Parts: sequence; C-alpha cells; structure tokens
Amino acid sequence: MKILVINAGSSSLKYQLINMEDESVIAKGNCDRIGIDGHIKHTTFDGRVIDTDCTFPTHTEAFEKLVEVLTTGEGKVIDSMSEISAVGHRIVQGAEIFSKTTLVTDEVIQQIDDLSELAPVHNHPHALALRACKKVIPETTPQVVVFDTAFHQTMPEKAFMFGMPYECYEKYHVRKYGFHGTSHRFVTQALAEALGKPLSELKIVSCHLGNGSSITAVDGGKSVDTSMGFTPLDGVIMGTRSGCVDPSAVTFIENKKHLSPSEMSDYLNKKSGFLGISGISSDNRDITAAAQHGDKKAQLAGEMLRYEIKKYIGSYAAVMNGLDAVLFTGGIGENSDDLRADVCRDMEFFGIKLDEAANAGLRGKLQRISAPDSKVEVWVVPTNEELLIARDTRDLVGNL
Ligand code: ADP
Repeated sequence: MKILVINAGSSSLKYQLINMEDESVIAKGNCDRIGIDGHIKHTTFDGRVIDTDCTFPTHTEAFEKLVEVLTTGEGKVIDSMSEISAVGHRIVQGAEIFSKTTLVTDEVIQQIDDLSELAPVHNHPHALALRACKKVIPETTPQVVVFDTAFHQTMPEKAFMFGMPYECYEKYHVRKYGFHGTSHRFVTQALAEALGKPLSELKIVSCHLGNGSSITAVDGGKSVDTSMGFTPLDGVIMGTRSGCVDPSAVTFIENKKHLSPSEMSDYLNKKSGFLGISGISSDNRDITAAAQHGDKKAQLAGEMLRYEIKKYIGSYAAVMNGLDAVLFTGGIGENSDDLRADVCRDMEFFGIKLDEAANAGLRGKLQRISAPDSKVEVWVVPTNEELLIARDTRDLVGNL
C-alpha cells in the first residue's frame, strides 16, 4: 500500500509518498512559491533530484505538477496515481469539531474552511489544497485529514479554559486548543514501545522543541495539558514567537507603539522570541554560537527557554501526580545536547538524573539519556509526523 502525505501551506505543498509495507519514503518534496511564481524540489528514494522553476498560480497547478513528477520523467516512481491507495493531509486546526482523524467529504472540507477564523494562516490554504487534490487525483482515491489539535481534545475543561468571561468560549470559541498533537502522539507511542510498557500506564512530559515549541503532559496516552494555546503563540519562548506573556504587556505595547491588532500579532509572532531577545537570529544554532562567543542577549534567550521548559516539567509532574519519562524531540530537542543537559540539571528532586555520556553528541536518534539509577527515564525520540499521518490514513481507509 502506498500513501501520499500532504502538508499544505498558503504558498507551499510539502509531500511524501510512503510505502506502508516497510514504512519507507519512496519520494518527497515541496511545491513552493504557489501564487508567486513556482518551484518544485522532488527527491526519490534512490537519490534522483528534480529542482526546477514552474508556474503555480494556485494549488491545483502544484498538484498537477506533483502528479507529473511522480508518474513521468526523471523523478518517476509510480506508473499511475491509481497505485496510491489514499492521501493523508495534515490540518492545523480542527477545533472541537474534529477530535480524530477523519475521512474527507465536501462537508468536511467546508468545515475546515469555516474554521479559518481560528487559524487564518493555515486552514484556508488547507481547504484550497483539499479541493485542488480532489480535482487531480482519481475520484476513487480516498482523502483523510489528520489534525494537529485532535490529540489535545482530551484535555479537561479546567486545563483548556482561560479566565475570561465565559462568553468568549461560548460565542467565539476562545480556549486552549494545543498544537503539534500529531508529533506528541507519535513520540509518546514510540517511547512506550522503546520502554516495552503500555502507553496507558505511563505519565510522560513530551517536549517538542523546534522553531515552534510545545510541551505536553501525556497521562495514559492522553493529552491532559499542553503549553500552546488558542494559537501556537502561547507557551515557551520560540524562534520568533514570544510564548506566554502577560496580556497587559500586549495592550501596553500596542498603545506605546501605536500598533494595530494585526501589527501587534506580527510583532509577537514574527519579531519576538529568540530573534526579538537576541537581535541576532531565530535559529537555535546561531543563538548557541553567539552565546558561546559571550553575547549576553543570546545567552539570555537560551537561558529563558531552558528555565521555561523546567517549569513545564515541574508543573506537569504535579498535574499528573507523577512522572515516568521526559522526552525531547523536534530540531532542538533531538539535536541540542547542551540544552537537554541544562534542562535536566538540578532536577534530582524529581528523580531526574542525566547520563552525561549518553547525552553528549547524541543527535536525531531514539535513545535513553538518563542514568541507570534515574527514577524518571529521559529519552531523545525523533518525531515523524508524516509517518503517523500515513499510518492513520492506512488505518482509516483499511476499515472502509
Ligand atoms: P520546525 O518547528 O520549523 O519544524 P525544526 O523542528 O526543524 O523546526 O527545528 C528547527 C530548530 O532546530 C532550529 O532552531 C535549529 O537551530 C535547531 N537545530 C537543528 N539542528 C540543530 C543542531 N544540530 N544543534 C542545535 N540545534 C539544532
């Protein structure tokens, strides 16, 4: 069985074609600059690469090009699209409507589009891509949607509500939704397998740390709280996003700098975080390098992230009444051994003791990094959201 996984943005269409027999990637790439001009980069399992400019006025032309490169010419990996059993799409916001992976119908696409107000940057492009995909793939090929928010729909009301008037929730659907759900679900399952224990018996704090970062308390396989909120802006400090701030600071700066609400939103989403504190870069590698050269603001940005992660681990252990494992994933979590060491330092109180040697230099590999006598296991678990989307898609269409 072959599954095509799609992650569509407003100007891009990332894809992976996965062979479900051995879960290997047959081909992957990105149709980029949709609505601007157009570019495709396509790589096959055996190393063939297509890297060329195109014309992509809309997502439909990008899908047409994707079909062309998969089935013809230099990048060909299948004879026809009918070899693809199903298409799985990543969708950012499913709100309270979608608590699980769902088969696509016209009504589902419309519901995803209707949720655009809650995720303006993501959901409308997702709907455009779903409609374009429908035009291009065979009518008999099922499409499936996997939501970033779905995993967090198990959070209790006391965790997802904000202390604002109740009408904000009732009338405007303002609440914590949480994001990165597909990643947190994938890595916690992978960790349970590695530990050889049922996920239903584990209390895990899952730290997904990348350009965007979120930390989730997973109790018995269910998300009970998470650091991102109504949007992916909340929680720990990120590449360009502020993370949690006192809301009064937002209105104060809005007034001081005479910013409109959307300008203020840009300020918090694109100019804050590592970039805003350091004035150097949003990228953890640049921040680490500058910090090592003595840059005080870069050092501060790194210290803030480490401090905030510690606070989440502590509060989520309290919420779950225990902690079996902490895991690190995402570009920073999987690769930054110094950050992992700093976070785990002085955590003996929680039963966390790092194996410094196991941690040092470890990048992108599933491995325990806690000492044998650590009460809490600490692991690096590489994430693979595309694979989970493909597995979900297979499971859903397999039951049709
Ligand atoms: P996204 O949230 O966009 O998916 P990623 O998960 O790819 O982002 O994470 C990107 C972050 O990971 C960047 O801040 C980058 O500096 C960091 N990163 C990637 N490789 C390393 C590395 N070897 N050491 C430290 N940080 C790294």
